[in-house]
Amino acid sequence: MRFRERVAQFFYGRYGIDSLYYGLLVSFFVLWILRIIFAFLPPVSIVIYVLETLLLIWMLFRCLSRNISARQRENEIFTSFWRKIKNFFVLQKNKIRDWKNFRYKKCPYCKAVLRLPKRKGTHSVICPRCAKRFDATTRI
Ligand SMILES: [Zn+2]
Repeated sequence: MRFRERVAQFFYGRYGIDSLYYGLLVSFFVLWILRIIFAFLPPVSIVIYVLETLLLIWMLFRCLSRNISARQRENEIFTSFWRKIKNFFVLQKNKIRDWKNFRYKKCPYCKAVLRLPKRKGTHSVICPRCAKRFDATTRI
């Protein structure tokens, strides 16, 4: 019981695990696999090993940090970056899924991505987000 209390006391007020932690963990495993692949090249595998170690130290530091607001800021930067990457791939998947009936165009004013019905030629479009009119050209 005393040991449990000590562990609980040690972790009290620490930041813990967040999405950046999982991102770093996935990066660690990717580097680990790369190190196995590049085992025949000792200089490369040493560099990868150093990077793995630095990632682990960073993960531990963030997990045990008491500066919660700084760790939350880092996590927000990571999640906004990750959201952009994820949205790009979701858009590509949707373009392939809707290839038969729709085309995706970006509004030149607000940069919103619009799904337009597939019609050949130039058409006038009103953006539902910013309500501005622009011309969208569809070739196929
Ligand atoms: Zn717009």
